[in-house]
Amino acid sequence: MENKKELRGWLDKFNLDHPLVIAGPCSAETEEQVLKIAHQLKDTDTNVLRAGIWKPRTRPGNFEGVGALGLKWLQRAKEETGLLTTTEVANPIHVDLALKHDVDILWIGARTTVSPFIIQEIAEALKGTDKTVLIKNPVNPDLALWLGAVERFYKQDVKNLGVIHRGFSTYEKTKYRNNPEWQIAIDLQTKFPDLPLILDPSHIAGRRDIITDLCQTALDLNYDGIMVETHYDPDNAWSDAKQQITPQALDQMTRDLKIRKEVS
Ligand code: PEP
Ligand code: MN
Repeated sequence: MENKKELRGWLDKFNLDHPLVIAGPCSAETEEQVLKIAHQLKDTDTNVLRAGIWKPRTRPGNFEGVGALGLKWLQRAKEETGLLTTTEVANPIHVDLALKHDVDILWIGARTTVSPFIIQEIAEALKGTDKTVLIKNPVNPDLALWLGAVERFYKQDVKNLGVIHRGFSTYEKTKYRNNPEWQIAIDLQTKFPDLPLILDPSHIAGRRDIITDLCQTALDLNYDGIMVETHYDPDNAWSDAKQQITPQALDQMTRDLKIRKEVS
């Protein structure tokens, strides 16, 4: 990807000449899988390796993550590749374990952002931290819940915040798994203009073939980064198989994406 506007806040320290790229599997499955993907991403534009360790699944009976064991795999991936790491935390116990294992960035999942009680608990567990915390939009199209989560973290002096736009549930059948409702993210930015905004095209799309277009739209809207689910064998991924792309496809995509030059 090419140059874009100056990045904001905590993103400055990354010293990037392109929007932040977070990539990696929906779920950490095995140590070998995490390491293999990390090594395949190492020489792409990827800055941060993602992998879900604790997986909130809407319905029971699906793979719910390897748990704390996966934190060691992320640590090893970081040592071997130099990529930063990020995983989802959904309660104070997760926070504690992730901090002990040196996870660089924590993200809050869409099913957590809907709950002010749990957001409050997580925010208190992170009180005063310098860690970067990325807050996904709530599953439902409710700007106030998303704003409320941001405010709860700020109130606990968690300053290095960002938001991830992953689309919103709808009962309508559309081409998206989760409707982007771009205006909601724009409204959030109006309220918090300095908050880095990252697109998660994978959970919006729910399918591989529209990921690039979604990223292009986000870049046109001056988003600060993308978070893309990436697996060497997407069809056999243990979760979100339909929407993952290979590290090679991610590499090609970031080369192809046209970044609109900022008019300053
Ligand atoms: C994920 O990132 O794999 C995930 C579960 O995302 P979301 O919380 O956006 O559904
Ligand atoms: Mn996923």
